Amino acid sequence: MKIGVLALQGAFAEHMTVLAGLGVTAVEVRLPEQLADLDGLIIPGGESTTIGKLARMYGFMEPLRQFAAEKAMWGTCAGMIFMAKEIESATAGKDQPLLAVMDIVVARNAFGRQVDSFEAGLTVTVFENGDSGAFPAVFIRAPQLLAVKGDAEVIAKLVDGTAVAAQQGKWLVTAFHPELTNDNRFHRYFLKLAER
Ligand code: GLN
Repeated sequence: MKIGVLALQGAFAEHMTVLAGLGVTAVEVRLPEQLADLDGLIIPGGESTTIGKLARMYGFMEPLRQFAAEKAMWGTCAGMIFMAKEIESATAGKDQPLLAVMDIVVARNAFGRQVDSFEAGLTVTVFENGDSGAFPAVFIRAPQLLAVKGDAEVIAKLVDGTAVAAQQGKWLVTAFHPELTNDNRFHRYFLKLAER
């Protein structure tokens, strides 16, 4: 099993550290050719407009869509925005290339300026019994999931009902940053998706 972390911008190094801790072979992906032998790809948090523009500049858009058609993909925060089919127009960047693979509608920076970052304990529906204590989710200028369509499913919500993680087949999105905590359950769950 080999997992890639898209390393154009953002918090890719932290994902690499978690994967190394799990004993997984992982590579920082900077060129489309590097996708060829991967079983899954993580798109990190950062700035979704920047990630989109760099992805387009380096010829990643079609190769990433082809990759997603077969393989596991996980977008955290900015990565979730990049994977979405739709961004609520009020929060979309002027020139914001989207991978547009997952049937979700997102709103960027949806928790408002006052709430720049916060932590919340989440119940994640897909974690196994016995592995189901609250997940410590770190939100940083985070997006929200406004709608989940097709066969995409919400897998975690805040107590007020705001959807913050979803899955559609082998695709996973989290509005928060599991790579910034020492709870590796989301990484382990993603490895299972990449295995099947
Ligand atoms: N606010 C960023 C964006 O809209 C995402 C923030 C993050 O990835 N932590 O792209």
